[in-house]
Amino acid sequence: MRLNLREILHQPGASVPFAFQMDLSDLDFYGECPAQAPIQVSGAVRNTAGALELQGTAETTLSLRCDRCLKSFRQEMKVPVSCLLAERLEDEENDEIVLLDNGEADLDELFTTALVLAMDTKHLCSEDCKGLCPRCGADLNEGPCGCKPEVDPRLAALAQLLDKETE
Ligand SMILES: [Zn+2]
Ligand SMILES: [Zn+2]
Repeated sequence: MRLNLREILHQPGASVPFAFQMDLSDLDFYGECPAQAPIQVSGAVRNTAGALELQGTAETTLSLRCDRCLKSFRQEMKVPVSCLLAERLEDEENDEIVLLDNGEADLDELFTTALVLAMDTKHLCSEDCKGLCPRCGADLNEGPCGCKPEVDPRLAALAQLLDKETE
């Protein structure tokens, strides 16, 4: 969505609220498309003593896959966004400022970027997910799988030696 701010550009104290939905279901994030649910965006842009301040949040429920047990799970995500908007840069160094295009702010781009930057690269269904058994692939969250615990190769050699002696 493009938000028209021409009305408040020169009106200190004035503000323009916004609320809309974004569809980012095609957004690729490391080979997955986690944003299957719509993104709810809301907030306002206020002219504070001549500077345009945007405050808003993007909220959604992500569809993720656990890195350890590969199970699908959902996770709430809420990203607060605040930034300054301006028609032109007074100071080239300041890249915190988002430029307006013809008095309009491209909120889709702004909130999509904020969401991507806030996304975790690691996803765990729970902090103490036990993952899958490296031998049989069973989900260890559902209980032990019955595989013998991994034996240290040095101990295995010793065990073989002892076996021979008892033969
Ligand atoms: Zn898991
Ligand atoms: Zn196992």
